[in-house]
Amino acid sequence: MRIAVVEDDDGVGDALVEALTAHGHDPVRMRRGADILLGHREADLVLLDLGLPDADGLQVLRQLRSVSDVPVVVLTARNDERSVVRGLRGGADDYLVKPARLAELLARIEVVSRRSRVAAQEPVRTVTTGDIVIDLTARTVEAAGEPVALTAKEFDLLAVLVERPGSAVSRQQLMDAVWGDAYVAISRSLDVHMTALRAKLARPGLISTIRGYGYRWGN
Ligand code: CA
Repeated sequence: MRIAVVEDDDGVGDALVEALTAHGHDPVRMRRGADILLGHREADLVLLDLGLPDADGLQVLRQLRSVSDVPVVVLTARNDERSVVRGLRGGADDYLVKPARLAELLARIEVVSRRSRVAAQEPVRTVTTGDIVIDLTARTVEAAGEPVALTAKEFDLLAVLVERPGSAVSRQQLMDAVWGDAYVAISRSLDVHMTALRAKLARPGLISTIRGYGYRWGN
C-alpha cells in the first residue's frame, strides 16, 4: 500500500518509512502539509502529523477532506481529548498518539484501509418506507422488524421500484430490469411476481398500480 508519511521530524519520519517498508508497504515521505494537498492522489492512505511547519495538521486535514476520501490516520504528540475529537470530527479515520507502538500502528492502518475499500466497493444502501426496511446491498427486507422472505425475482422487482420512490415505473422498465428484456411472453410473469410481492409485504397501497402503465412505490 502506498502510504504518505506526512511528518516533519526526520527521526520519526525515517523510522516510520523504515518500519512500513519492512512490512511490505510503499511509504512516501512528505514534510509539509502542502505536500500532501498536492500529492494525495499518489497515496492509498495518509499518516498525518498535526504539528507541521507550514500549517496546522487539522487545517490540512479539512482541506484534504474537501478534495479526497483517502483514508487518514492522524499520528501526533497531541494527546488531549480536544485534539483527538477535532481530528476525528475533521475527517480522520483513526487517531494515534506518539510514540505509537508499531504493531498497533500497522494493525490500525490495516483496519482503516480495509474499511475504506469495503465502503468504496459496496455502499450500504437501505430504503425505509413506513415500517418496511429494504437493504439493497444485503438484499433483505423487513416489515415491522420481521424478515420478509422474497424470491430473487421478487426482490429484483422491489429494488427497481424503491430506487424511484414516488415515481411511476413502467411495466417495460420493470421487465427490462428484472428479466433483461421486455418480452410479451413474460408480461404475465410480472403480474404473478407483483402479486406475490404485494402479498408478502402485506401493506396495501404501498405499491400502486398505474393503469395502462406500470407501478409506483410509496404514496
Ligand atoms: Ca511535527
